[in-house]
Amino acid sequence: AKTSGKGRCEVFQPSHHADHLDRERLQADLYQALERQELVLHYQPIVDLAPRRISGYEALVRWEHPTRGMVPPVQFITLAEDSGLIVPIGRWILREATRQAAAWQQPDGRGPRMSVNVSVRQFQHPDLVDDVTEALRASGLAPDRLTLEITESLFAEDTAGTTQKLEALKALGIRLALDDFGTGYSSLSYLRRFPIDVLKIDKSFVHGIATCSEDRAVIGAIVALGQILDLVLVAEGIETADELAALEQLGVQYGQGYHLGRPGPPQHASPAAERRRSG
Ligand code: C2E
Ligand code: CA
Ligand code: CA
Ligand code: CA
Repeated sequence: AKTSGKGRCEVFQPSHHADHLDRERLQADLYQALERQELVLHYQPIVDLAPRRISGYEALVRWEHPTRGMVPPVQFITLAEDSGLIVPIGRWILREATRQAAAWQQPDGRGPRMSVNVSVRQFQHPDLVDDVTEALRASGLAPDRLTLEITESLFAEDTAGTTQKLEALKALGIRLALDDFGTGYSSLSYLRRFPIDVLKIDKSFVHGIATCSEDRAVIGAIVALGQILDLVLVAEGIETADELAALEQLGVQYGQGYHLGRPGPPQHASPAAERRRSG
């Protein structure tokens, strides 16, 4: 949220709808994108704030379109969901992100975590648990290094199926994070009901933190909730030193955002590259 003239907090609403024809053209191209290896993953650091150490990375998909250049995920994830292509694309993302994370592990078995976004339709597909199992097997990544990021929209329908699947995923030994926390279907009961380990505080609250006392209060309440329910908190979208300082003061342990590190290709994001940068 942002503060407007009279100290009110506004909610920022991005609009990402390509026009109809454009959607159809992109959709057709997307069918070939996987096969032609036009999809790539970028990685953004997730930082443990007190020691200021990279704890892991979030994988963010990019489409290097042959004529349009880099197409951002907001423009094609919805298309992929609508067409069902999200299932093979999501499977590839899981494979690639776990392969990369495994390559970044150190010989002593320690190394960065990897967070992978899972969209609703991909989650609901009957193959999801098998796809995650297979990605872990093929990469050799220890399950506790993998976090799947899901959104509150999963809980809107819900039901036994969702609970069962979340529990099957937890049984693999991975972690589950609730993405964009605070923006979606808001019932707190599901935090007790579902096996969630991590809350990612949505960037709309983070952007308001330095100027908007309501946003600060909301984050304070999320911190208290996190302590009661034993959840790990990650603040998203940290863009300034002031936002970072305010979050640390409120007791948020992990952060992510342009101020801490932008998403980049693997050679840019690798732990070795981070060590080079910090000297
Ligand atoms: P998200 O999961 O909430 O990812 C965070 C988004 O915020 C990313 O945008 C990231 O680049 C951006 N970001 C990071 N730091 C900052 C910051 O300091 N300020 C601002 N304003 N933005 C920041 P991106 O990569 O364009 O992805 C947008 C959304 O697309 C993601 O939101 C996620 O919902 C979806 N997405 C991205 N990659 C994947 C994927 O591999 N699979 C699925 N299913 N969805 C994905
Ligand atoms: Ca995410
Ligand atoms: Ca998010
Ligand atoms: Ca999101």
